[in-house]
Amino acid sequence: MQRSWVAGANAPGGDFPVANLPYGVFSTAGSGPRCGVAIGDRVLDLAAMTEAGLLGRDAGEWGFHEAGINRFMAAGPAAWAWLRRRLTDLLAEDGTPELRDDPARCEQALISMDDARNHLPFRVAGYTDFYAGRQHALNSGSILRGPANALTPNWSHIPIGYNGRASTVVVSGTPLRRPMGQVRDDDADGPEMVACRRLDIEVEFGAVVALPTEMGQNLSVAEAWEHLFGFVLMNDWSARDIQRWESVPLGPFQAKAFGTTISPWVVTRAALEPFRRGAPERDNPLLPYLHEPADYFFDLTLEAHLTPSNGNASRIVSTNTRHLYYSAPQLLAHHAVGGCRMETGDLLGSGTISGPERQTFGCLMEQSWGGRDPIRLEQGGSRTFLEDGDSVTLTGWGQLEGHRIGFGRCEGTILPALQQIGSGKR
Ligand code: CA
Repeated sequence: MQRSWVAGANAPGGDFPVANLPYGVFSTAGSGPRCGVAIGDRVLDLAAMTEAGLLGRDAGEWGFHEAGINRFMAAGPAAWAWLRRRLTDLLAEDGTPELRDDPARCEQALISMDDARNHLPFRVAGYTDFYAGRQHALNSGSILRGPANALTPNWSHIPIGYNGRASTVVVSGTPLRRPMGQVRDDDADGPEMVACRRLDIEVEFGAVVALPTEMGQNLSVAEAWEHLFGFVLMNDWSARDIQRWESVPLGPFQAKAFGTTISPWVVTRAALEPFRRGAPERDNPLLPYLHEPADYFFDLTLEAHLTPSNGNASRIVSTNTRHLYYSAPQLLAHHAVGGCRMETGDLLGSGTISGPERQTFGCLMEQSWGGRDPIRLEQGGSRTFLEDGDSVTLTGWGQLEGHRIGFGRCEGTILPALQQIGSGKR
């Protein structure tokens, strides 16, 4: 793999070699949020690089001094490819010395990750979450309806999704408050308002839409691929007891509205090229508008670690994006097919990713089979669902011989529920 002169960029097992170059937003003690690229254990300050004239004439139009990469995403594939080539040239060992041989410039533009605080990498225009993992749909359906009726008749034809709240998407490191909500136990006379008792994670893969569509327009799957900028790790925190009572007939609402965490760095399609794979075997032929002219799936490992307040981390999930049934461009093509206007900064969640074995199940509801079988933690203790003070960290990467592309960390810690309703203003 190509080597870089930047500290930490050639570390075995590192997430951010020069072949990655993911985009995000960061701030430092002395300066507000602006765009950057992760390289080794540094952040390359794209606003400073633009001001120094090192990113070419067009960089002034790309909005790198703003708190979101939206303007750069909207600039389109030619701009993305040009900047990737230029950054590679600036940061690779065998590239131009323009930055490398200028210590003052390096000091200003290459910031230690320890000194950088991450923010949401893009302004989230809309957030839609799908249900594109076949094994997750099978497991959830089996737990709720029994194995004979696990998959609904539409599942193998439609990428099923719902419109979530863009306002609830947060960057890694943001604490999540356990939600209050209406639940109804099977043997209870009526509903009650409680702090969620079945708080869960969902290990997902998030696609970021770069190019907008007009209302009434649609996209082929091949066009949809070109409209995507890149991908993030995503934890769609879920309140199972609230979900169970509220979701018939219109689907999730409050059970999914208290927080969805994404990783801070958007890994581009270009960086993930070596990990592209073909579609899984189909249960039935898909309608022509969902046909794929190329390989749009990925071979990426995703893991989740749970760390209780005692600090002892346990790996609870190890799964892979190849377990998805619908690809990201299929999700986008389906989203746009009725004429829905798609925007720069739309986030499309894959849905929970689960494989065939228990360790690959991407949420606690599946791992504990609806709360029946506790999950043993590595250092003692067990969980069926999350407790206050628990942290969950997602990681993800693609790995080939000597070539690794990582996503960084997607982490959140559970705070106790509010003790009363009302007078909650801060
Ligand atoms: Ca979800």
